[in-house]
Amino acid sequence: MKYIDEFHDPALARRLLDDIHTTVTRPWALMEVCGGQTHSIIRHGIDQLLPDSLELIHGPGCPVCVTPLEMIDKALEIASRPGVIFCSFGDMLRVPGTGRDLFQVKSAGGDVRVVYSPLDALDVARRNPDREVVFFGIGFETTAPANAMTVHEARRLGIANFSLLVSHVRVPPAVEAIMRAPHCRVQGFLAAGHVCSVMGTEEYPALAERYRVPIVVTGFEPLDILEGVRRAVRQLERGEHRVENAYPRAVREAGNAPALARIEEVFEVTDRSWRGIGTIPDSGWRLSDAFRAYDAEHRFEVGDVRTAEPAACRSGEVLQGLIKPHECEAFGTRCTPRTPLGATMVSSEGACAAYYLYRRLTPGAPAAREAAGREPVPAGATDAVKEASPLG
Ligand code: SF4
Repeated sequence: MKYIDEFHDPALARRLLDDIHTTVTRPWALMEVCGGQTHSIIRHGIDQLLPDSLELIHGPGCPVCVTPLEMIDKALEIASRPGVIFCSFGDMLRVPGTGRDLFQVKSAGGDVRVVYSPLDALDVARRNPDREVVFFGIGFETTAPANAMTVHEARRLGIANFSLLVSHVRVPPAVEAIMRAPHCRVQGFLAAGHVCSVMGTEEYPALAERYRVPIVVTGFEPLDILEGVRRAVRQLERGEHRVENAYPRAVREAGNAPALARIEEVFEVTDRSWRGIGTIPDSGWRLSDAFRAYDAEHRFEVGDVRTAEPAACRSGEVLQGLIKPHECEAFGTRCTPRTPLGATMVSSEGACAAYYLYRRLTPGAPAAREAAGREPVPAGATDAVKEASPLG
């Protein structure tokens, strides 16, 4: 298949791996920001082919995983109300809120529908003028343009019974928060290629300079990942810290101008809470004043929601790269994709789900961590991190 097969070429992969092995002379830790990249790495065993001294730390770039519990609970409350049709992408339906999920609301009689685009939800609103239709608008910069366009269309078409429950997050403030966290071990980043295809790369040079880390914009196929790793370790070995674009077939420095214009028109930057991590300043978007009438949080007045995360779940530490999924005591026992305790086991982009799906079931990482001279991260370390860091 064109544009897929050539990025799975084993001979080219071998050459890139040989180059990486030749280049690396000492221990390095890179973070792949996006959950899609994590799945590609684990699925193809890329981390197991790299030099032992090169660690890939899995980042927080899974939109389902970082959607805060209070936002899930608000979705559950709105979806339970009579007269509401609650529309969402399918992967949000099994994400546990405090005590239940959207599937349970649906089985209790709530009108919860899976759609494949926010425009599908707008169409549901057009065909049901006597009902309130809400779309659960979550995600990173990648999904923001379509959600912005849908709200814009709702206003243009005069569809007043449509609203958006917004939980958008932005990558660059999260990268900054990761670098400022006390336990941070990250020395370079593989930036998410699809995010940069929308936003461009102009936000990254200042971060690379401030924290003296290479940032390589990277795609998702095996050769994309290997090329991103190769460029990052080459910079690290040379003592460089620049932004490089290793995904030029999709990413331009200035990004996608029409998408950026629509985001700017409809959304405004706001602080956002990340599930398991805490509030990161300026790390999200909400609807701007001009579009506030389409904001489901305001329309349904779901203000204060009390939440409680399962005590056993260490997804906050997984999302910050402090532990690997199989270092969580509940991994594969109390917590599986059928019985998830945390969102990182639910989402198709979650690190815990990737480790479970591709059979990384043996907790070998703590030994590797100790062998590399690093202390094991104790259960509950997230709380200490939150207290001491700008993440909290
Ligand atoms: S394995 Fe389950 S309980 Fe453990 S961190 Fe992942 S989602 Fe949470």
